[in-house]
Amino acid sequence: MMSAYMKAMVYHGPGKYGLNDVPVPKILEPGDAIGKVILSTISGSDIHIVKGGIPEVRYPLILGHEFCVEIIEIGPAVRNLKVGDRVAVSCITFCGECSNCRQGIYARCKTKGYGSFGIFGPEGCQAEFVRMPKADNYCYKIPESLTPQDVLFCGDVLSAGYFGVEMADVQPGETVVVVGAGPVGLCAMTTARLRNPSKIIAVDTIPCRLNAALKTGAADLALNPAADDVVEIIRELTDGLGADKTIECAGLQPTFDIAFNAVRCGGKISIVSIYERPVTVPLNKSWAANISLSWGFAPIDRIPVLMKLIEKGKIDTNFLCTHKAPLNEIMRGYDIFGNKKENCLKWLVTPWET
Ligand SMILES: [Zn+2]
Repeated sequence: MMSAYMKAMVYHGPGKYGLNDVPVPKILEPGDAIGKVILSTISGSDIHIVKGGIPEVRYPLILGHEFCVEIIEIGPAVRNLKVGDRVAVSCITFCGECSNCRQGIYARCKTKGYGSFGIFGPEGCQAEFVRMPKADNYCYKIPESLTPQDVLFCGDVLSAGYFGVEMADVQPGETVVVVGAGPVGLCAMTTARLRNPSKIIAVDTIPCRLNAALKTGAADLALNPAADDVVEIIRELTDGLGADKTIECAGLQPTFDIAFNAVRCGGKISIVSIYERPVTVPLNKSWAANISLSWGFAPIDRIPVLMKLIEKGKIDTNFLCTHKAPLNEIMRGYDIFGNKKENCLKWLVTPWET
């Protein structure tokens, strides 16, 4: 018989978090499914949360929002899932019926109890089990030919990077600059490549990220603002014009400034990062040079497309999986991933081991 308690990573307020014994989730609504978490990650947002960087987050709360599960129980209204299915899950839960959901702005679902797992919505996935309300809306069966690790990032960082490329409207032959070569930035580069740009330039201050971008072929050139005059070099490479498109994946004033100053007149800046602090945007300069800015939260309905691209071998994000350990070691993961130690790009969490 299954125990009534499980291990979970619980946030108890800024600076206070740890592995706790908590009740195993139960079906509460007819559209619920319960999943056994087979693989999850620690995300940059989790690190912001535990440091108190997102003060709106309620607590206690189980963290985690990027994951795959095996369905172990379904409510009577669930239609598309069955017990035993292995699915990739979107980081966002949503009702599918409110005015925002009908417009595809799922992250702003107005119905109480929905929102991002482990941030503003239901309990998160850094646990043995997770409850998924209206699970039909955002759980996608993992194709037979793929592993959970192959599709793990579809529900969060890969969707975000892909959306950055969509907003930038990358065209064949263009020069694309991706500022921030963390997981989202690396996913943006990987998916920008599908559109045949002439050059992808990665910008970051962390050498292991730039190395990953070059080694995997995600980027053609890597620039480090700590050593290089990034904007000057990009202008030299583009006959003094600037890049056609810049994608901002870091979320700081200096990284926004690079994205802004490196783009050409008439170019596009696409922003998929979260800014912890207010940022100054030179709107008059943007107006005068016809530079357009787009930003937004990635819609998660691209997951089936991304899975098809992975199945066809067009996208492979396995290079991000530098670290992998059971839930038992998650505190070490928060330290190593959170403090950018050991060249860690992503910390993967496998099930609790007894
Ligand atoms: Zn809704």
